[in-house]
Amino acid sequence: MEPIVKYDDLHKSFGDTHVLKGINLDIYPSEKIAIIGPSGSGKTTIIRLLMTLEEPTDGDIIVAGENLWKMEVGGKKKRANEKHLRSVRKNIGMVFQHFNLFPHKTILDNCAMPLVKVKKYRKKEAEDEAKKMLDRVGLGDKYEAYPANLSGGQKQRVAMARALVMKPKIMLFDEVTSALDPELVGEVLGVIRDLAEHDEMAMVLVTHEMDFALEIADRVLFLDDGVIAESGTAEEVINQSENPRLQDFLKRFR
Ligand code: ADP
Repeated sequence: MEPIVKYDDLHKSFGDTHVLKGINLDIYPSEKIAIIGPSGSGKTTIIRLLMTLEEPTDGDIIVAGENLWKMEVGGKKKRANEKHLRSVRKNIGMVFQHFNLFPHKTILDNCAMPLVKVKKYRKKEAEDEAKKMLDRVGLGDKYEAYPANLSGGQKQRVAMARALVMKPKIMLFDEVTSALDPELVGEVLGVIRDLAEHDEMAMVLVTHEMDFALEIADRVLFLDDGVIAESGTAEEVINQSENPRLQDFLKRFR
């Protein structure tokens, strides 16, 4: 089976700071991956690169067989233009720590808009699709509400519905529960659990929820100082690894 995403010797620096130091990673269709690791180890950068929010310093990212940042023109490779990036990015959805909803639009508009703008759906079709996804995340009674009138957990579920309407082949979740009050974490994890169990798309979660990673991840990556220091099943990495840096890191969650 071909990977849906392939990182090939990927490096990323910000000025003099070498953040990712050669990431090699294949993500397969429908695979659920959790990325764990200390703050500043580069977890968010890995997924922001896939979402094209950052550009690699060196190396390649291949998505559904297409090089994300390089395109071929007349047999030669050149830097991808915006059209190429948009077309490859259609495969990818992302949910952020801080929701990023449009405050002056209803929940329904927030979810329907990307279908109208990017996929050129008619308004009615887009709204029908958006309603289906809002129902799925348990917000079927909130179509006309505005973000300000929702709890953090509800906002995060809207953000998920908005990403899901695009039917991405891979969904990225960047610490989506870390800005929430503890009592709201469960409802958001519940939606992710439901997606992991019933949806075919690949999922990558940056998370500090070790129990949740153990429960849903097919594979866990421990990122340390810009490299994937451990990779294996959740059980192998979280419960059995003898890597002292990983044990040190895990102690903070036990
Ligand atoms: P993590 O998600 O593991 O906490 P990040 O990927 O957010 O780590 O960040 C890794 C390192 O890259 C940190 O040292 C951070 O300060 C730095 N970094 C991330 N984004 C930028 C940026 N846009 N400009 C400069 N430095 C950045």
